Amino acid sequence: MTLLCVPLVAKTVEQMMADMAAAKARGADLVEIRLDHLSDFEPRRDLHLLVGDRPLPVLVTYRPKWEGGEYEGDDKQRFEALCLAMELGAEYVDVELKVADDFVRLISEKKPDNFKLIISSHNYQSTPSSEELSSLVARIQAAGADIVKIATTAVDIVDVTRMFQVIVHCHVPMIGLVMGERGLISRLLCPKFGGYLTFGTLGVGKESAPGQPTISDLLNVYNIRQIGADTKIFGIVGKPVGHSKSPVLLNAAFKSVGLDAVYVPLLVDDLVNFLNAYSSTDFAGFSCTIPHKEAAVGCCDKVDPIAKSIGAVNTIIRRPSDGKLIGYNTDYVGAISAIEDGIRGSQGVGKETVSPLAGKVFVIIGAGGAGKALAYGAKEKGAKVVIANRTYERARELANLIGGHALTLAELETFHPEDGMILANTTSIGMQPNVNETPISKLALGSYSVVFDAVYTPKATRLLREAEESGATVVSGLEMFIRQAMGQFELFTNLTAPENLMRDTAMRYT
Ligand code: NAP
Repeated sequence: MTLLCVPLVAKTVEQMMADMAAAKARGADLVEIRLDHLSDFEPRRDLHLLVGDRPLPVLVTYRPKWEGGEYEGDDKQRFEALCLAMELGAEYVDVELKVADDFVRLISEKKPDNFKLIISSHNYQSTPSSEELSSLVARIQAAGADIVKIATTAVDIVDVTRMFQVIVHCHVPMIGLVMGERGLISRLLCPKFGGYLTFGTLGVGKESAPGQPTISDLLNVYNIRQIGADTKIFGIVGKPVGHSKSPVLLNAAFKSVGLDAVYVPLLVDDLVNFLNAYSSTDFAGFSCTIPHKEAAVGCCDKVDPIAKSIGAVNTIIRRPSDGKLIGYNTDYVGAISAIEDGIRGSQGVGKETVSPLAGKVFVIIGAGGAGKALAYGAKEKGAKVVIANRTYERARELANLIGGHALTLAELETFHPEDGMILANTTSIGMQPNVNETPISKLALGSYSVVFDAVYTPKATRLLREAEESGATVVSGLEMFIRQAMGQFELFTNLTAPENLMRDTAMRYT
């Protein structure tokens, strides 16, 4: 079982004791006491409290500056403090590989039975090759480690595969973590690959190394206690991806149906490299978001005809029978059904056979992945499609493809062939943190009776607020988000999506 460790980086002993109690209450298995973060550390006085009165097992670390910590003094005093921590009953002490021989000699006669020495190596620049990592493991083992710890840095998410490989093949307990946002899955998937522990913080800003998630997310979003060797991995591939609510939604849905699966954020720079590196059947499916939806079409072995017509894939399944990648698009149904239901709701009519989009002028701002899905869907429903885009050439290409009309963003301001038009924003304009931006003036909004915004963070964008003030029916991107995620869940699992749970979860977290 992978242990959950909360790093404690408070400046005072009192705060560290309070954080230790909080870590226990949140469900941590142990805490890492970072002595080097204490501003006025006095070993004899403070360790009796920190280690003597510990409410849960402790790992004591006194990291020097030269290994990325805060301690600037000499090793003699540092080692004395670590020795004292061991004598007072600390379950673990961490010491750096560079000085491990000296420390091992110092404690050789005194090491208590239940005590474990972690010997660590940190690389804040990169992740070495698999061969170099394996030889580093061997050196750490030879130095006398009970537990090997290697922390490297992810320049690309592909780097993490090398760490997973080394952990799986390591014969002694190993902590193998890849720092930085691109290394996040090394922290989330520890239990799958057999990592000895992973770090979860008490909150944002309380990290002891770059890229640590909170313990609350590890337990409540990623359900880390349920992850094991057989757990299937799904994830959202994007750049950026940190803002996505898909992990919250999909993990809650997996849990509710008892599926042995986890859904993680995957910050991917190069989709082809990513898919080549993560080619095992353990990585069972992916959602695709900005900027990979269009490239994803070319990366799949087979693409569903609708996704092919749209020219964008937002869901990739790895077919279990032969490992082939199959691409789909759930944005199209998600967005169009949300807009249709929004219009029907405002008119108080039920689902009739004719779409309320039929015959209407349907203006789409944006010609990227979401724009293409909406353009295709609106055309399918019989609307007269108009595309306006920052890069006019892309608007024209899309309009030609589906049989529509193209505009520049400037032309959009005065575009008014008829009243009661439908408008859909599919650009990221207005998305957090740029919540004061909007893709069209309030004046021009007067020509529209229905306005949809694909942006769902915030739920009520400036565009939707101004459209509502102008008397239009508004449809939130959150509705599209929920529906496209339900579509993805069904493709990932072949089960019916738990709609109420996904709806409640989406409302709670956005
Ligand atoms: P994409 O393929 O990268 O396309 C982005 C589009 O936005 C392009 O047309 C781009 O114009 C335009 N754009 C970006 N920044 C702009 C700016 N500052 N000014 C004017 N135009 C700008 O992205 P996507 O996957 O279609 O996603 C677009 C938006 O939809 C994102 O905010 C995403 O979160 C949202 N979305 C929501 C859902 C949902 O479920 N609610 C689903 C999918 C997407 P150029 O062609 O000129 O670059």
